[in-house]
Amino acid sequence: MSPPKTASPIKSPAKASPVTVTAGPRKITGYAAKSRGAALEKWTYEAPALGPNDVDIVVECCGVCHSDIHTLDEGWGATEFPVIVGHEVVGKVAAIGSNVTHLKIGDRVGVGAQCGSCSRCSPCLHGKDNVCANGVFTYNSTHPSGRVAYGGYAEGIRVPSEFAFVLPAALDSAVAAPLLCAGVTVYAPLKRHMFPGARVGVVGIGGLGHLAVQFAKALGASEVVALSTSTRKQKDAAALGASRFVVLDSPAAFKANAESLDVILCTACSHEMPWDSYISLVAAEGKFIVVGIPEQPISVDLSSLIFRQRALIGSIIGSRAEVEEMLSFASKHGVKPWIEKIPMKDVNTAIARLRKNDVTYRFVLENPRL
Ligand code: NAP
Ligand code: ZN
Repeated sequence: MSPPKTASPIKSPAKASPVTVTAGPRKITGYAAKSRGAALEKWTYEAPALGPNDVDIVVECCGVCHSDIHTLDEGWGATEFPVIVGHEVVGKVAAIGSNVTHLKIGDRVGVGAQCGSCSRCSPCLHGKDNVCANGVFTYNSTHPSGRVAYGGYAEGIRVPSEFAFVLPAALDSAVAAPLLCAGVTVYAPLKRHMFPGARVGVVGIGGLGHLAVQFAKALGASEVVALSTSTRKQKDAAALGASRFVVLDSPAAFKANAESLDVILCTACSHEMPWDSYISLVAAEGKFIVVGIPEQPISVDLSSLIFRQRALIGSIIGSRAEVEEMLSFASKHGVKPWIEKIPMKDVNTAIARLRKNDVTYRFVLENPRL
């Protein structure tokens, strides 16, 4: 085996001074939470030397996904603290392992929510690596080598090279970042389950939802209906391509829209939502797809699925092939996240505002210099 290839120096964006990175162990500083719900603070960890298939990336920017908040709050179960979250990462390859041939130093790449799969299980062998039972997530997860995965609210990240995607030149880095998780999470199920002329509803016009509206339209929906909790986003939804905007704030509102949609993509995640009422908006034989992940179990009346032959379907991010396809589709069709850029040092402000549904529509933390 040849030694890992070493880079130096990589020029970080903006006015940052060059960062020198080698393939050996390196200290990486990021913004970590040290306990549940704690404010993020600067913290440094020692990343082991690159494995033969790994790459080191100098982070340029990172989107703020609601999954980051679920993890910081331990809403989905225990989090291994300290944790550095962030899985919409864009940066430049700064060093590569000895077996890496498809990436080179200086390439601009993106990393999403997944950073490993076993390559041997049935889903992996069928190109569905996103449902690999032994998958490794980008943070709060451990690689088979025992290396802890830390995310992109940081100056750097080390990941297996097959989960670092070269970005289309047409996509600006901060615009590309949210596509790596939010984008593929909505594109993949819409692509799988939509049919030409489908009437598509999107529940929750947030980070995922505002992209879902754009993708559904570009994928050929006859109607894209934004299903929101207030009138606040009505104008934006129209600009994003929604043909109709419905505020679901009363039993009468649900009744007036019953059975009106073929496919609904639900990006909202409250366990207290009236789930049966949302499902009642799907036409007979239609599909209710859930991507928002509640922190507590929900209950659903199965008879509403059975008697109308509706399907309730889950979806998790997307496979590597779907990420590649989505990036090229977004670039070709002009699907673009609406972003608010914010310096990475102000990460706690971004998180506090996202908790209050106060973002248009995705924060992107800009680094260099943390
Ligand atoms: P977000 O930006 O906070 O958007 C969520 C939207 O849900 C809000 O903007 C809001 O839209 C709506 N909403 C909020 N409270 C609601 C309620 N009580 N009832 C109905 N709607 C409500 O979050 P995000 O980053 O898009 O993530 C959404 C969910 O997807 C999270 O649970 C996240 O963890 C999950 N996720 C899943 C995957 C996956 O692979 N399955 C990947 C990424 C993220 P309105 O203002 O329009 O009502
Ligand atoms: Zn995410």
